[in-house]
Amino acid sequence: GEFTSMPDIEPSKLQFVKTDKPKQPPASSSLVFGHTFTDHMLTIPWSSSNGWGVPKIQPYAPLNLEPSATVFHYAQALFEGLKAYRDSKGRVTLFRPDMNMKRMNTSAARIALPTFNGDAVIELLKQLIKVDKHWIPDQPGYSLYLRPTLIGTQAALGIAPPTEALLFVICSPVGPYYPQGFKPVALYGTTEYTRACPGGIGAFKLGANYAPGVVAQKEAAKKGYVQNLWLWGPDHHITEVGTMNAFAVLKDANGVTELVTPPLDGVILPGVTRDSVLTLAREHAEGKTLLEGLPEPGKFKVSERPITMKEVKDASKQGRLVEFFGTGTAAVISPVDRIGYLGEDIHIPTGPDGMGPVSRPVWKQLSGIQSGAIPHPWSVVV
Ligand code: PMP
Repeated sequence: GEFTSMPDIEPSKLQFVKTDKPKQPPASSSLVFGHTFTDHMLTIPWSSSNGWGVPKIQPYAPLNLEPSATVFHYAQALFEGLKAYRDSKGRVTLFRPDMNMKRMNTSAARIALPTFNGDAVIELLKQLIKVDKHWIPDQPGYSLYLRPTLIGTQAALGIAPPTEALLFVICSPVGPYYPQGFKPVALYGTTEYTRACPGGIGAFKLGANYAPGVVAQKEAAKKGYVQNLWLWGPDHHITEVGTMNAFAVLKDANGVTELVTPPLDGVILPGVTRDSVLTLAREHAEGKTLLEGLPEPGKFKVSERPITMKEVKDASKQGRLVEFFGTGTAAVISPVDRIGYLGEDIHIPTGPDGMGPVSRPVWKQLSGIQSGAIPHPWSVVV
């Protein structure tokens, strides 16, 4: 492309400006998800004439942007979300950061923002985490949520690829999503709003995908549901759950348990948790790495295939709907116990711990890998 001869991000050029007003990290019990930020942030400027500039770790502070900056007018904004965990030996690890960098570059390409070397940003993320790692509460289930963001900053009206952009990363200490154990949620299968459509932007983590969901969520809440179950098309294909990927577990007439999630056909965000759940479940189904509690290989299969509300409703009527859940970085797995759909409620079984026979063993393995308790190549030491 036209930018290939321009300088890419260069970690060795990192400049570090340490804060002279370090804050006292708050008590972990008082943390509200995404409301507290650490002392430092990473910034990397880009311009079309000079490529990627000098990366800087500097005190967390307001950005200085012109009101004409394109991000404010044309939603030239995208972001990522990943977590750094501290294990029982005090080591800090990132979970599959290469997946987030890959998705960030895919998002950037979709809205004509500059792409970059993901490995270089991972290297810089490590430096940032090292500086602020004392902000990770030293308790099980706590982590540092990282928010890499890329925005168009050119001070000019007019819809075009911006000539200036800014990549920045901020860090927020967060607690476990379900401190009192899993709490299943009720979903509203919305036929009034659509999250994404073919040829659109649903498969990319763009800021523009999220603002329109707020009104839809508020309306679902008014009806007594926690989140929307996003559907697509005349057959009401299941796509996503709020801001999570959707999974159903069905049992067929031969007693085979099937874990189903819709395929990455352009309206689904390629979740890192989605991919991880699929990988672990497939390794079990193929007899490679068995997960205790899952139906034995031969009685368990994993499918990326379209699934409609009719199929879920029919399975429920026939007593073959085993589970329904969402997956995402924030909550890992979010069990669902009820789906409101065309004036009726579909009820979904959940165990005493809120989970089900498939989500429970998969969650145990996945959260064990994420926290560092189970060694795995997905953990990247900071
Ligand atoms: N779908 C949407 C719309 C999301 O915003 C997210 C959160 N990034 C996910 C799914 C889950 O993705 P991940 O597992 O990578 O957090």
